[in-house]
Amino acid sequence: MANKPLKKLLLAPGPTPVSPLALQAMSLPIIHHRSADFKPVLQSVRDGLKWLFQTKNEVIVLTSTGTGGMVSAVNNFFNSGDKVIVIDGGKFGERWTEICQSYGLNADVIKVEWGYTIKIEEVEKRLKADPNIKGVLVQATETSTGVNHDVEKLAKLIKNYENTLFIVDAVSSLVAHDLKTDEWGVDIMVSGSQKGLALPPGLAFIAVSEKAWKKAETSKLPHFYFNLKAELKNIKENQTNFTSPVSLLIGLNEAIKQLKEEGLENVFKRHERLANATRAGIVAMGLKLYAKEMPSNSVTAICAPDGIDGQEIYKILRDKYGITTAGGQGKAKGKIFRIAHLGYADTFDIISGLAAIEMTLKGLGHPITLGKGIAAAEEILMK
Ligand SMILES: *Cc1c(COP(=O)(O)O)cnc(C)c1O
Repeated sequence: MANKPLKKLLLAPGPTPVSPLALQAMSLPIIHHRSADFKPVLQSVRDGLKWLFQTKNEVIVLTSTGTGGMVSAVNNFFNSGDKVIVIDGGKFGERWTEICQSYGLNADVIKVEWGYTIKIEEVEKRLKADPNIKGVLVQATETSTGVNHDVEKLAKLIKNYENTLFIVDAVSSLVAHDLKTDEWGVDIMVSGSQKGLALPPGLAFIAVSEKAWKKAETSKLPHFYFNLKAELKNIKENQTNFTSPVSLLIGLNEAIKQLKEEGLENVFKRHERLANATRAGIVAMGLKLYAKEMPSNSVTAICAPDGIDGQEIYKILRDKYGITTAGGQGKAKGKIFRIAHLGYADTFDIISGLAAIEMTLKGLGHPITLGKGIAAAEEILMK
């Protein structure tokens, strides 16, 4: 057994590494959130979030994790008893259902086999049958399986239904994927700070369409803290309802600045390139991808070889090689492990991750030729 690793590398689908410039920005002394110093920060964050979410509407910022953003997307726009469709293809789809049920919504759950994507016809059939459906909730990337759902196609379908809001959990997808909120007609797009934006955990973002704000007028569910109408009123004055997470917002400002310098198209291309290289490397090692269709550019879920526990691979990667990936969640626990290529991620993060996977598998006695996976990835990363 090698010594304890000196260097650590975070390749989990959240939290993800934070860039040195964002870390530096966040280390500055705290300024007061009701002061003149702070307002330009929030003004710049607002402009930046609209750019990133590809919307002309205000993007609300909450001090919470991504799940808080998901909760606010339910308890500000619906009423108890409202019927909604939940697309559930994994752990985070299950979370939508749990949140909806906790507020008394009537969730019609479409179960999608783990590793697969939603068939749009399934949603269309239900919408046609019941014009009273108030919302459709989905993940852009279902992080637990590494599969994307087709947000564009769903948005274009749901846009035709006047009474139905389309709500997308893009917590792990924003930045890695081109999500055209306004152009496609997504009503509510939720994200968080600790994934594609490469910041510490602690912020949730919610882009809200005009159609959704109208619906908010009639929602009677309790929302003392996650009160999006109150937040909207405040953010227009470059304020938040309660104490602003000043350091995180300063970090966010820096993170957005860096993304702007890179250019949105290039950001998406970088994620695509890293994801393609990761998948090619894994397949070249003789392993199977867990995603059977529409694999995400944020995270790759990998099937553990027969006879090897996925959690064991995850633990050796972490404890022996200093690389933190993620194991499987829910019913995929033990069967898979997951490696992210998300946020502040580049070529040699992928090389390191794949090399460590090869070394781990060889160490576990799996027949593997060292270097095969890396070579396949290198071919793609050179382009
Ligand atoms: C990470 C994640 C969330 C939010 O998780 P938090 O721990 O609350 O930040 C929600 N949805 C998806 C798809 C995610 O990957």
